Amino acid sequence: MAEQLKAIKGMNDILPPDSARWEWLEDKVRALMRRYGYQNVRTPIVEPTALFVRGLGEVTDIVEKEMYSFEDSLNGDKLTLRPEGTAGVVRAMNEHSFLYEGGKRLYYIGPMFRHERPQKGRYRQFHQVGAEVLGFAGPDVDAEIILMSAALWRDLGIEVGTDVRLEINSLGQPEERRAHREALIQHLQVHADLLDEDGKRRLHTNPLRILDTKNPAMQAVVEAAPQLIDFLGEASLAHFNAVKSTLDAAGIAYRVNPRLVRGMDYYNLTVFEWVTERLGSQGTVCGGGRYDGLIEQLGGKPAPAVGWGLGIERLLLLVEELGKAPQPDAPDAFAITLAGVPVAQVMTTLEALRAQGVRVVLNPAGKEGPASMKSQFKKADASGAQFALVFGPDEVAQGLVTVKPLRGNGEQCTESLAMAAQWAGRLQAHRS
Ligand code: ATP
Ligand code: MG
Repeated sequence: MAEQLKAIKGMNDILPPDSARWEWLEDKVRALMRRYGYQNVRTPIVEPTALFVRGLGEVTDIVEKEMYSFEDSLNGDKLTLRPEGTAGVVRAMNEHSFLYEGGKRLYYIGPMFRHERPQKGRYRQFHQVGAEVLGFAGPDVDAEIILMSAALWRDLGIEVGTDVRLEINSLGQPEERRAHREALIQHLQVHADLLDEDGKRRLHTNPLRILDTKNPAMQAVVEAAPQLIDFLGEASLAHFNAVKSTLDAAGIAYRVNPRLVRGMDYYNLTVFEWVTERLGSQGTVCGGGRYDGLIEQLGGKPAPAVGWGLGIERLLLLVEELGKAPQPDAPDAFAITLAGVPVAQVMTTLEALRAQGVRVVLNPAGKEGPASMKSQFKKADASGAQFALVFGPDEVAQGLVTVKPLRGNGEQCTESLAMAAQWAGRLQAHRS
């Protein structure tokens, strides 16, 4: 036998029955987005490397060590598999002058790529749902986008405040960050001997990111560091307070975490994360914030924006952990065909049923003809179907089919092939 090829480490196949959970979650997301008036965007998976270097910042984990970058072997262009969705969406908005007639509410669902060490909840190809609101500067849309994420948790059976907790912070504006940055560098310099290698390197390039460290040895230095919130001016504080009071009014509990800074450079004002204790160290299921400078930074006409991204794998792990994952949909009916029955008649009956919305699966006969009745009933049972439709030669000759309940205590009966549309409803009644 030829050698079998395997998928790339950290990149997973999503197969039945798990794929049914993915579809369930995606359906919930689409319904949510429609309720809030967010429209779908689909941008390419491969983008120019420069988009992410300029968009995310050179001194970020993603750009420094996580990107799948390569040269186009035909023309030498520098390309990257997208590690996140926001930069691509902003590029597309700029390229198509999409914000010309006003703000936009957008969302996407799709794969992202980061060269990380694969573990539970952390993969090299993973999937995000992202929501972006472009062109609106007020705290109302910051609150809206957070409330929308909370609504999604409820739709998925995740309890807000216990299963997932909200952390928020304000990063202020660039000039406020500069003042804080100087104080921060001063503090960190005094304790430079306690910084790890990343910390030392970032001391002058990106000291704010040092606050985000997961290194326990640096916690004391980081905790004693000057806090950005103390450097915020009146306008930034008013924006933050408006977001908080809307969350208060909506009954969404949150914790202000002054050390929450997020991984990308593009954020300002509101930043937030939804975290869970139930997934070990991969505890952030969703993160986002305001990024008023990014559109301009990527060459567009200046416009404010806010957004979030959530990890589908982590969300599904959480849903499973909580025992809230739905059972994959079983068919309503499973069609069993006995020897000597014309396939065409079976098929047209099944088509008529499906046209009425019935979920019905045919057991294919194979080259030797249908298997024994017993083995076919076994398959019908295993399919989870509510009914078996038994197409026997004598009945079909009379224009009839036997409908046999596989679960519950209904009666077996025969129905007319020609009038399938009339009895189709009975096969679906168990769903309501
Ligand atoms: P982390 O701190 O866990 O690395 P992050 O801050 O890098 O997360 P973001 O860039 O904010 O993550 O992406 C938004 C969401 O995407 C995260 O909250 C997480 O749920 C998910 N995510 C990020 N990286 C991965 C990954 N490698 N595998 C699976 N999910 C991921
Ligand atoms: Mg990361």
